[in-house]
Amino acid sequence: MLQHILHLLYPNLCLNCNKSLVQTERYLCLLCQLNLPETNDHLTKENSVEKTMWGRIPFERAFSFLYFNQKGVTQRLLHELKYRGNEELAVYLGEIYAARIKQTAQNHGIDAIVAVPLHASRLKKRGYNQSFAFAEGIAKGLEIENLSSAVERRKATDTQTKKSRAERWKNVSSIFCVTQAEVLQQKHILLVDDVITTGATIESCGQEIIKTVDCTLSIASIAFAA
Ligand SMILES: [Zn+2]
Repeated sequence: MLQHILHLLYPNLCLNCNKSLVQTERYLCLLCQLNLPETNDHLTKENSVEKTMWGRIPFERAFSFLYFNQKGVTQRLLHELKYRGNEELAVYLGEIYAARIKQTAQNHGIDAIVAVPLHASRLKKRGYNQSFAFAEGIAKGLEIENLSSAVERRKATDTQTKKSRAERWKNVSSIFCVTQAEVLQQKHILLVDDVITTGATIESCGQEIIKTVDCTLSIASIAFAA
């Protein structure tokens, strides 16, 4: 609470340590930026995100920018994105991440990006899709197209408890819908979400894309919560 008030009064404070930012710093001071809990997953095959997604959908590579740690800087950043609508911060994080993954992305021929969509009602309530904004930053940094409008979310929530496995699969598989298959055809798409925990959301979105379009998928997220 106190931190929120501080940031309203002094927007040029580091989101993590509250130190005043110098002109060249944005959102985080240099020290906090250097100390971000980066996974460096893009440098390692068989990293934790890839292991989470193995056998669920076919993909080339999977990587997350940051580790999620309770009460840590990642949680503070995500809070800022989710509850304070800081769209610019999401784009900025995407730009930082693009600089990290540029070589990997180029080596693997990633040539388009798609953010896991929010349902229209959720989008209206929240004002923006943080995964989309993060994807925008990555697209800009990698100089590739953001083709997120090719996929839509048909259902707002996926309450799946009390359903059988088959029903659940049916339910999951109809959450997303590819509306412009032709623009994704033959591309290597980086599918982006905000946080990967169980990987269920990115799996169902990826399933729908693979089912409809002849393309290759890689996976990325802002944070990975083991
Ligand atoms: Zn700081």
